[in-house]
Amino acid sequence: MNWLEEGWRHVWLPYAQMQTAPLPLPVARTEGARIILEDGCELIDGIASWWTACHGYNHPHIQQAAAKQLEAMPHVMFGGLAHEPAYKLSTRLAALMPGDLNRVFFTDSGSVAVEVAIKIAVQSRLNKGERGRTKILAFSGGYHGDTIGTMAICDPEEGMHSLFTGLLPENPVVPLPKDEASIAAFESFLEREHKTLAAIIVEPLVQGAGGMVFHGPDVLRRLRAAADHYGLTLIFDEIFTGFGRTGSMFAFEQAGVAPDIITLSKALTGGTSPLAATIATDRLFEAFLSDSPMTALMHGPTYMAHALGCAAANASLDLFETEPRLAQASAISAQLAVELEPCRTLPGVKDVRVMGAIGVVQMHEIRDPATLRQRLLKEGVWIRPFRDIVYLTPALTVSPEELSRLTGAISRVLTAR
Ligand SMILES: *Cc1c(COP(=O)(O)O)cnc(C)c1O
Repeated sequence: MNWLEEGWRHVWLPYAQMQTAPLPLPVARTEGARIILEDGCELIDGIASWWTACHGYNHPHIQQAAAKQLEAMPHVMFGGLAHEPAYKLSTRLAALMPGDLNRVFFTDSGSVAVEVAIKIAVQSRLNKGERGRTKILAFSGGYHGDTIGTMAICDPEEGMHSLFTGLLPENPVVPLPKDEASIAAFESFLEREHKTLAAIIVEPLVQGAGGMVFHGPDVLRRLRAAADHYGLTLIFDEIFTGFGRTGSMFAFEQAGVAPDIITLSKALTGGTSPLAATIATDRLFEAFLSDSPMTALMHGPTYMAHALGCAAANASLDLFETEPRLAQASAISAQLAVELEPCRTLPGVKDVRVMGAIGVVQMHEIRDPATLRQRLLKEGVWIRPFRDIVYLTPALTVSPEELSRLTGAISRVLTAR
């Protein structure tokens, strides 16, 4: 395969030590929950391409919508020009949100959606003459992106805060308030420092890239109460948890509390093209209104509200309305719980947990992830263990047989370890 060997001298891979990175697998096409390699081999996809392909790959409804949009107009700039896919999508996303989360700002990646959320939280105060509240309270184990601003609100290790000291803005990172000690620490931190804070940011219910660590809805209610008490903007980063992944359309629904800003991306277009949204309350939006251009939100990616992506996102929302995605998530949840449970007694396994369409086998330690990945490949599945976990986040349309192949592969490979 010429393109692979030639290109290998030029590409730079994500999160990879290029000196030792193995050659990636050449993919010819995708179909449903399957990845078909150039050599004809089929892999069942356990992670839906970084949690994006929630309807499986190549869903005909999204493909048709995208093809139609491509023919009419792939994209036009969002400044001064309007197109139906983005305006419709704003209306539909706002309708899915609780309360007055009514204003949608489109960007092209999750990290940038979080950057915009930070900007809104901070500038809304500056616009009202409130200075000095520029810090964002974030949580250990959290992940909000790879750009400089978002690294600064990731877990300090994940965000490489010590390596990049001097480059990153400094933000407080504390443990999630989930037990007596961490609740006390959280409360006393806020009491001391709230005057420096603009916002609190959290991944609701599941810290994804931090190792698929779960917390209860009570934590989110506590954050809401604290934000209200101290007048802080509460940001829910639902980039991973949104669109059915935790069993409800959005994770915040399970807590019965609404944030002031929510960020969405990943499954927003059903895995079709990069698109993200930052949705803010009317109250935050109104803080940007004045007679002066100085109080406007100064942000606008070149490909903002990409028309093709918005068409795909609208088609993806159609599918949530017309196909039983949440029922499928719940069936996946039940099957994952039954089929992963036996892993609990395998040597080296620390925990097995399931929430919605997320199944996790946590190990005490994964010493050689490369070998583990290789063994999983031999089982005909695409699963990427990272940190100390082997996890599944399949398409919500994965069949029970395909899901059994995925869980079976994990049990066999961990048994043989
Ligand atoms: C993936 C992710 C991001 C970053 O999104 P990108 O599109 O990779 O920039 C931010 N927050 C959460 C919770 C994520 O899972």
